[in-house]
Amino acid sequence: MFGAVVVGIGTAGWVRIRDMLAPLAGSPAEKLTVKGFVSRRALDSEQGVSQISEEEAVSREDIHAAFICTENVSHEDKVRTFLQAKKHVCVEYPMTMSYQAAVELWDLAQEKGVILHEEHIELLSADFKELKREVEGKTLQEGTLHFTGGALKPGFGFLAFSGIARLTWLVEMFGELTVTAASMEEDSANNYSKMTAQLLTADSRPVTWIEERGPGLPRAKHINFHFACSTVTEIPPGPRQAVGLFMQDLLLFAAKLQGQVSPDELHRERSRILHCLKLADRIQQLSQR
Ligand code: NAD
Repeated sequence: MFGAVVVGIGTAGWVRIRDMLAPLAGSPAEKLTVKGFVSRRALDSEQGVSQISEEEAVSREDIHAAFICTENVSHEDKVRTFLQAKKHVCVEYPMTMSYQAAVELWDLAQEKGVILHEEHIELLSADFKELKREVEGKTLQEGTLHFTGGALKPGFGFLAFSGIARLTWLVEMFGELTVTAASMEEDSANNYSKMTAQLLTADSRPVTWIEERGPGLPRAKHINFHFACSTVTEIPPGPRQAVGLFMQDLLLFAAKLQGQVSPDELHRERSRILHCLKLADRIQQLSQR
């Protein structure tokens, strides 16, 4: 069994506890058992699980893994603390707010001989699986992905990092990208921000990625992908999935802990995550010029 602690009890942290208390029957997640949670607030108990201090979580021998579910800007520090203590780590995306920090954390995980896993539930949704199937094998001519959503909460960082899920979609569909330009529009008095990044595929096809956030903006993704033979403007709704997104991610993390994921797959995932963080870094640099 792998004892686990959940750090940060927001929406994601709450779901992590729920899923470990009721893992999918017969799945690798049954090997995870939640031993406590860490929070900056003094909370009594959460779903019957007790609060413990970070110091206790790091030093207890029956705790082998940590779920980092705090706001984005504190991920790096929390991940490092638990890796240093030789605990496996599952961190909600984005892992860090810079490419370099992610490289360092991955090196640290390797040195300590533990698993470092970054959650990417956006790749597990039925809609994305359907969209990926739809674009598979088609030659992109030009594409746009425009995300809108409510104002970003404090501590969630620059838009290219908080929106890394959208960038990950683009990379999963169209392969490695390069950044050619990026800009920001901001109206801080009204909590409004818009980032526009111009990207290129390996065969020099332009892809535009827009993240737009402000009070009252609906949470939505607008796509416009032109292929040699067709155009895709709607995300095709996928069939309802029997297993929830965070549970699917838990299965993947648990499978990694039990050595059930091939080194090739681990390498592919690490390369994609680092590639996306490198792009986010570059977008931030260009936007802030
Ligand atoms: P959240 O705002 O619910 O929680 C974020 C942090 O705020 C947590 O540390 C939590 O302990 C703290 N917090 C929440 N409510 C609080 C309160 N009333 N008083 C004081 N502190 C409070 O955010 P979240 O949605 O859980 O996101 C956490 C991480 O998970 C982020 O990195 C996010 O990118 C990632 N993530 C979330 C989702 C999701 O569906 N919620 C999906 C993918 C990734």
